Amino acid sequence: MPPKKSLGQHFLHDARVIDDIVLAIDPRPGERIVEIGPGQGALTIPLLRRHGALTVIEFDRDLIDPLRALDGRDGALEVIHRDVLAVDFSALAGNGQIRLVGNLPYNISSPILFHCLDHAAHIADMHFMLQKEVVERMAAAPGSKVYGRLSVMLQAYCTVEPLLDVPPAAFRPPPQVDSAVVRLVPRPVADIGIADAALFARVVREAFGQRRKTLRNALSGMCDAAAIARGGIDPGARAEQVGVDDFIALANRLADHGQPVAPMP
Ligand code: SAM
Repeated sequence: MPPKKSLGQHFLHDARVIDDIVLAIDPRPGERIVEIGPGQGALTIPLLRRHGALTVIEFDRDLIDPLRALDGRDGALEVIHRDVLAVDFSALAGNGQIRLVGNLPYNISSPILFHCLDHAAHIADMHFMLQKEVVERMAAAPGSKVYGRLSVMLQAYCTVEPLLDVPPAAFRPPPQVDSAVVRLVPRPVADIGIADAALFARVVREAFGQRRKTLRNALSGMCDAAAIARGGIDPGARAEQVGVDDFIALANRLADHGQPVAPMP
């Protein structure tokens, strides 16, 4: 079966990279590990050998039977045949937490990351292979050219730790971009301090929707300059200069005042 481009299929074959990823994950007894997009098992098989039990979520029906055949060989493998975006990670975690791993399909990596954030309280950590450029955006600091919505949203909820760079030659077929492995560890709910998650997400989305504009202009649909200043931020600043904690403070300030303050007509 040739790899399917539409499903972002680039199968890992570099043994050293696979070893490095399994070492970084470092499975411990009793942990519930869930792999997104197991494909032909490049990570699945070594993880199963090392850990003895694994749940995998795969969308490609042609890969399901070969994956099910692995069950009982090196350990207990539960195969969920579904679009990962339709999987309720909180339900999967039950009363505990899951660890998520995966060499993600790059075409839907941002939706997968946001889906994970929706369930962050039930996720102990994540180890993902992504486009290197995406990992750089996730880890970027204010002032950097690549600092944006993805940086703020991920850093608000998780620590972001780039682990290793992976060249195209590590995959079959090779992707046209460099890749990188990143570790995300959700911050404890009590430490995050976001009063209204939907409002915070809206502030960040609108602020970066027009990143060349000042916040005063970019956020004019939801609050006026005085409200931004009361949130402790210079309304003349641009989103790319504003730190994650300042975005949280601004959104909390708007949340404190009930509905976001509408601008004067
Ligand atoms: N883990 C394997 C490896 O490293 O060789 C495969 C990685 S490949 C980059 C991405 C995998 O995600 C493929 O197996 C693909 O079929 C699967 N996939 C694509 N879209 C998916 C979705 N929406 N839900 C679950 N799996 C998906």
